[in-house]
Amino acid sequence: MDSQIKKIHQQLVSKEITCTALVQEKLNLIKENKYNSVNSLLDTLALDLAAKVDVKIANGETIGLLEGIPFGIKDVYMVQGTYTTASSELLKNYKSPYTATAIQKLLDAGAIPLVKENCDSFGHGSSSENTIFGAVKNAINPELVAGGSSGGSAVNVAKEYTVFSIGGDTGGSIRQPAGYNAIYGFKPTYGRVSRFGLMAYASSTDCVGPLAKSIEDIRIVLNVISGKDPKDQTSINSNEISEDAITASEVKTIGYFKNFVENDAIDVQVKADFLAAIEKIKAKGITVKELDFFKSDILVSTYYTLAMAETASNLSRLDGTNYGNRIEAENLIETYAVTRSENFSEETKRRIVGGNQVLSQGFSDEIYLKGLALRDQISENFSKDFEEVDVILSPVTPSTPPKIGDSLKDPLAMYLSDAYTVGFSLGQLPTMTVPQGTPTGLQITAAKNNDELVLKFANFLKDTI
Ligand code: GLN
Repeated sequence: MDSQIKKIHQQLVSKEITCTALVQEKLNLIKENKYNSVNSLLDTLALDLAAKVDVKIANGETIGLLEGIPFGIKDVYMVQGTYTTASSELLKNYKSPYTATAIQKLLDAGAIPLVKENCDSFGHGSSSENTIFGAVKNAINPELVAGGSSGGSAVNVAKEYTVFSIGGDTGGSIRQPAGYNAIYGFKPTYGRVSRFGLMAYASSTDCVGPLAKSIEDIRIVLNVISGKDPKDQTSINSNEISEDAITASEVKTIGYFKNFVENDAIDVQVKADFLAAIEKIKAKGITVKELDFFKSDILVSTYYTLAMAETASNLSRLDGTNYGNRIEAENLIETYAVTRSENFSEETKRRIVGGNQVLSQGFSDEIYLKGLALRDQISENFSKDFEEVDVILSPVTPSTPPKIGDSLKDPLAMYLSDAYTVGFSLGQLPTMTVPQGTPTGLQITAAKNNDELVLKFANFLKDTI
């Protein structure tokens, strides 16, 4: 699909549509939707902003490309004055006191926020069932999960309720639901987009990124939200990616991890389709190398060890005193305990308990420090790979989306469904899902800071597969 942003921009400028009508139409669709993709509507704000865009157009003023473009926000981003619940009971009534940098940049560019989107609570999950707002339903088959944790964002884009959405990806949460709902989802190089105002899950891999229906829309939004931010010391400077820069692919060599496909866990169809895609790429004269990598269960256990440790620390502030719905008990300690045990979901508690365990004395050397050492080895492995290949191609998930309800019965199986996404998160690499190749898409990954090459290769794949 071509750029929706450019198309709508033209329609607004040529007065074919008004921004108010456009926003109202999208709000109506969102309100009526049966996919549980919505936590709260930002209708008053959206209609106010739309009216201002219409006045500008009526006065003959020029408008920017993103001005008047409706978008969605995963419900883990602060937008001043709006509810930011992280889909949790604990923060059900929490209102953001400030606005996240990435969202502020979009607001400054004139984009119009419509909705805070349903997701797994605090980003904990791969199905968007771990939420107080009801399991998000898959946009293609509503009996299946939407994927997670940015499930509401993926469904809103897939159904065209929003033109793009801002998700969050710690271990796959943009890429996996993008794959399950057949759209594009981009996780930038760690630090390219400021995390300020994103509720922290695992700070060392949390990334802010767009979901959209075209590569061009991903590029436009990525440029706007990127940049060093004094409020996030891990954020970095990056160059703008031009439209021309991502048209002609210069990729000569790609690689794929042999053990990702020669594995019992992969669905036969996903495997056959992935290998067929590889053949089509070879037929274009590109060299394809098989690469060695860590076994997927090592990747999953390393990721979950570190992610649980970080989330246990990050969520320790949510005790009903500074934040969250407080449940009073006999004394302060009891109040903390009851507040946290009643208000966190089972999945979140599992992670807090696991995280505190791996950080505790007697265990941290054996488990947490080992996890950190493995992460270094994973990064080294990637550095070596990118001396040999330009991009790495992988499936996004080992299998197709499960039925709603199934993942809740088996958390370990859910963790293993992240096998192909978490490694790239640990490496802090730029990586993207494209809705092609396998039933849950393909994942394109490049070396750190080479986000441009990911988009370039995505354009090449669009015409190749
Ligand atoms: N499914 C992974 C997890 O539960 C990734 C989630 C995410 O990226 N937020 O940790």
